[in-house]
Amino acid sequence: MMRPLSAVELLAVWEENWRQPPLWQGLALLAAACPDESGATLMEMPVGRFNQRLLTLYGWCFGPSFTAVTTCAACSELVEVTLDAPSLCAQGVEQPASWLELDCNDGAVRFRLPTLGDLIAAGEAATVLEASRMIMERCLENPADALASETLAAVTTAMENADPLALIELSGACPRCGQRWSAFLDAASFVWREVQTWAQRTLQEIHLLARAYGWREAEILELSPTRRQAYLQMIYG
Ligand SMILES: [Zn+2]
Repeated sequence: MMRPLSAVELLAVWEENWRQPPLWQGLALLAAACPDESGATLMEMPVGRFNQRLLTLYGWCFGPSFTAVTTCAACSELVEVTLDAPSLCAQGVEQPASWLELDCNDGAVRFRLPTLGDLIAAGEAATVLEASRMIMERCLENPADALASETLAAVTTAMENADPLALIELSGACPRCGQRWSAFLDAASFVWREVQTWAQRTLQEIHLLARAYGWREAEILELSPTRRQAYLQMIYG
C-alpha cells in the first residue's frame, strides 16, 4: 500500500537522491511511500504501474492538476498542457498475469510486460535502439533473434495495449502557430522536477522563518502549508 509522504520525509528523499538519475529518483520516492514493499518488488512493477504510482504520489504532494511543458517543433513556442493526475491514472488497467501470449506467424510468443527494472537495465545502452532491443530480450521468454521483425512489432503493440500508462502520450495544438504536437510524458523526470522545485522553495521558507522567529527546522516543517504561508506574509509585511 502506498501512503502520502510528510514534508520531512519528502525532504529526506530529495536530499538523498538529488544526484541520482530520474528512474532511481522515482524508485526512491515510491520506496519511501511504500514501506511494506522491498526495492526488488518495486523493480518488478510494470512501467505503467510505476508511472501511475508516481503520478498518484504527485497528486497527494502537490495537488491533482499539473502542467507539463513542451516546445513547438514548428515555431519553438513553449506549449503548456494542464492535466489531471487522478483521471490520467484511471486509464491504468488491472495488471495481467506475469506471462502474456500472442499468436503470430512464428507460433505463440510468450512475453511479460517491461518493468522498472528493465528500464533501469536498458539505461546502460548506448542508443535508443539498443535499449529497446535489451528490453525486448529481457521480456521475451525465448531469444528475440529468432523472431521476425513483424512479430517483434506485434509484441511491442501488445505490450503497450496491456499496459496503457507505460507510455503516456500528450498532444494538442500550438497556441501560436496551430501546429499539432505530441510528446511522451516522462513521469519520473516530471515528478522529480516538481520535488526539486518544492524542496528549494521549502528550504528558502525555512531559512526566512528561522531567521525571523528563531524556530528550528523541524518546528517549521511541522507547520501546515497554510500557517507557514501566513507567517511568511507577515515577514514580507
Ligand atoms: Zn508553434
